Amino acid sequence: MSKISSPSISRRSSRRWVYPLISLFVTLGLIGGNANISAAFNWRDLILPGIQVIQLTSLSDKQEVALGGQINDEILKQVELYDDPEINNYVKQIGARLVPQSDRPNLPFTFQVVNDDSINAFATMGGYVYVHTGLLKAAETEAEVAGVMAHEIAHITNKHALKQMRQRIIAGGLADAAGVDNNVLVAVGVEVGLNLPRSRRDEYEADQNGLENLIRSGYAPSGMIAFFQKLLNAGGGSMPTFLTTHPHTEDRIANLEQMLQQAQINPNMGDGLNQNQYSASVRNLR
Ligand code: ZN
Repeated sequence: MSKISSPSISRRSSRRWVYPLISLFVTLGLIGGNANISAAFNWRDLILPGIQVIQLTSLSDKQEVALGGQINDEILKQVELYDDPEINNYVKQIGARLVPQSDRPNLPFTFQVVNDDSINAFATMGGYVYVHTGLLKAAETEAEVAGVMAHEIAHITNKHALKQMRQRIIAGGLADAAGVDNNVLVAVGVEVGLNLPRSRRDEYEADQNGLENLIRSGYAPSGMIAFFQKLLNAGGGSMPTFLTTHPHTEDRIANLEQMLQQAQINPNMGDGLNQNQYSASVRNLR
């Protein structure tokens, strides 16, 4: 896979930015080698200025978690967390069941419930996953919530936000030979997390990996499909926020169904389909 791939950037403009950065990267690599990161760390010290952009998708887990934490600090200035401990624990429990079966089981994940009635969930990087109360209210089973969360976890395990940030920084000319300013980096991360739609390819990848994770975790895979279908049917006026940042839902449902069919997996085999149990688990939602 090439270091930089972006359908949204013209070949000419990507070359313009990428080549000087690559040569700088190589030069610094030759001079400095790979510095070992000691225990106490500060984001600014972790990455040499000027190679941040090219290195965004090859950060260590520690670096990625640190950047995700900085982006989280900014996101928490824009959203309100839901304070009910029972609801928070419930979402964390679902996450704790999914993460060990994900493609990055050792990454520390942080699951947070956002007090917002729009139907949405999103993820940034370094394990930060956000689930709206509106999504928990719209769901009817735990398998549906787990399906969406598995999809968001897969965005993180595949570093989709980091790749998108890199594209955005390059396309926007936000980096020069001296690198990208930390504040700009965080601001772009917030924008990618909250507002920008993922690409079709990223959505398919998150669906596929998410579905696999869901099945390995013992949840009924029909949950994921049922929830996406629910979003499509919601219609009637405002489109659920989730659909604007996670596009191509109709095709993706067909794709998920095909994956299950090919693997000869019964979509209703697994846990999390009991509606009464789910209602009891989220009874504190108001
Ligand atoms: Zn998505």
